[in-house]
Amino acid sequence: MSQTLNVKNPRTGEVDYTIEALDASEVASLAARLRGTQGEWLLRGLKGRGDALLALAASLENHANAIIAALEIDTGRKTIASQEVMGVIGSLRGWTQLAPMLMPKPEWTQGRMKPNFKHQNDYIPYALVGVISPWNFPMTLSFIDAIPALMAGACVMIKPSEVTPRFADAVSKAIEEAGLSDVISFAQGGGATGAALVDNVDCVCFTGSVATGRKVALSAAENLIPANLELGGKDPMIITASADLDKAAELALRASVLATGQACQSIERVYVPSEHYDNFLDKLVSKAEAVKLNYPDISQGHIGPFIFNKQADIVAGQIKDAVTKGARVLTGGEILTHGGGRWLRPTVIADVTHAMNIMVEETFGPVVPVMAYDGIEHAINLANDTSFGLSGAVYAGTIEEAHEIGQHINAGAISLMDGALTGQYFEAGKQSFKNSGLGPSRMGANGFLRFFRQKAYIANTVCPLTIDDFAET
Ligand code: NAD
Repeated sequence: MSQTLNVKNPRTGEVDYTIEALDASEVASLAARLRGTQGEWLLRGLKGRGDALLALAASLENHANAIIAALEIDTGRKTIASQEVMGVIGSLRGWTQLAPMLMPKPEWTQGRMKPNFKHQNDYIPYALVGVISPWNFPMTLSFIDAIPALMAGACVMIKPSEVTPRFADAVSKAIEEAGLSDVISFAQGGGATGAALVDNVDCVCFTGSVATGRKVALSAAENLIPANLELGGKDPMIITASADLDKAAELALRASVLATGQACQSIERVYVPSEHYDNFLDKLVSKAEAVKLNYPDISQGHIGPFIFNKQADIVAGQIKDAVTKGARVLTGGEILTHGGGRWLRPTVIADVTHAMNIMVEETFGPVVPVMAYDGIEHAINLANDTSFGLSGAVYAGTIEEAHEIGQHINAGAISLMDGALTGQYFEAGKQSFKNSGLGPSRMGANGFLRFFRQKAYIANTVCPLTIDDFAET
């Protein structure tokens, strides 16, 4: 039976919304409805699907104000709410151009191992792709995998986070207006609905925590379906002795505290040459103190509240652990309650070590822990001393120097001369290292090609062998 779930407003702490969580049988019915139209969707071809997705982009534009308003309540922030909607519209337009260029052309190739054979491939999309998304970028992470899957010819079921579900109702109206309700649909609900989705799709794309990712991977294995997992990170940034320290402090701050630090790809630990440590910290603290909370007016300031109340306690616990073990909080550090929401000013922490949770666990808050290093090898060892491998960053004197150092960092994507670029749409492939995920890249060509199975045609160009050719002589 479906269940009513309460949803809190992050700016007020009040429950002001509810969703009806789909139960397992409702998820199965929705899956059957989407599967029922997939054949027709596939028959439209790349051009027809592209035109339909361009119509969806136009429809999202028509509904943008309502979607942005819902996202603002979901996340307690304004500029990023609008950027999320515009980003999805841009991604729809981008994939409709890119997909035809990436689609392999069916052609016969002559065998090299067996010259009498010739081969051809078909590319058959998974009929139904399931997307499970987290609460930190609700719209972006619901569509980042869905759009290339749709272009490939799959139908898509999206389960948004139960923490930030409001935007989905507004988006559904745009989907309906574009005539795509039987091709793409939301399944609202919490963990149980997500688990049911995995049982009913042919391929799952999950973005979320390592703990839930493991459950999704186990369930996908039981169902023998591929799991694309985009999980947590503890992204390092290395600043070199040749870097412009003022710019380095500016971008370390932005890359750490943007979106209140609630980004998997945000910078979570900064390594600075010991001879520049105090100077860097002075610059960082003065820049951090200039950052404003977007309270009381959501239209003013830089960073919003914690979206998910529980995160404030986790971050407070990490700060307390660091201080107990000898770290110094140079600015910020106190969870504030304003208007019922929970907030944290940008927090700079010095004298941290890898014995502290703040340097090894994921931190979903605007916290910049800074550690000194002696020699670049030391910095690289520290950057790689982690169970994660999502992404990282290097800020140096030149791109070439940053690139050289980036080659030694064990992570799926490296921002050079910037930080957290990996959280934006880009067109090079990347795969997570260690606990940060599993599966092909969601960016670049594989972002599209991973939604196809390859089907081979093997043609014998000469007389087939007979059983006598295998006789035990
Ligand atoms: P979460 O793992 O708690 O939840 C993610 C989604 O999984 C939600 O929709 C939730 O309802 C669903 N879910 C819960 N239990 C499930 C189950 N048993 N089966 C299927 N689905 C289930 O994560 P969160 O707290 O919403 O998001 C924060 C996490 O997401 C952080 O760890 C962050 O690093 C990660 N993240 C990763 C990326 C990336 O690209 N790698 C991007 C954003 C966020």
